[in-house]
Amino acid sequence: MIYPGGCYCGNIRYEIDLKSPDEARTSICHCKNCKKFTGSAFGITAKLPWKSFKITKGSTTKHESDNGSGTTLTREFCGACGSGILEYGANAGENTYVFYGTLDELDRLPPRGEFFCKYRGRWLPEIPGVFHKQEIKE
Ligand SMILES: [Zn+2]
Ligand SMILES: [Zn+2]
Repeated sequence: MIYPGGCYCGNIRYEIDLKSPDEARTSICHCKNCKKFTGSAFGITAKLPWKSFKITKGSTTKHESDNGSGTTLTREFCGACGSGILEYGANAGENTYVFYGTLDELDRLPPRGEFFCKYRGRWLPEIPGVFHKQEIKE
């Protein structure tokens, strides 16, 4: 199954090739780092195997920083419009994280859980039927 996506301006397009939707795990992260990068109230990404992800058009711009606990976090985004495409920590191993809003069809990979719930906006309700962790994004 192919899950296509791309950035806001269309310069970058990608395809995710999964045998089953269970190969991906979408989660929400309420940490301050994700808020800052996305400019939103939380980050939401789909974790999936690197080998299933392929850029089919354009190329990303990279930014590396400390994630706040001593691990290098790389983010790849569109240098023209700023859409986040990928993020991955030095310990992510075989996996990468795709910024969920760039998928063309969001409902195909719904979220499984929320991380860093202790930083969730007080006005924002819990998502029902998924796991809730106070801290770590694993
Ligand atoms: Zn773009
Ligand atoms: Zn986060």
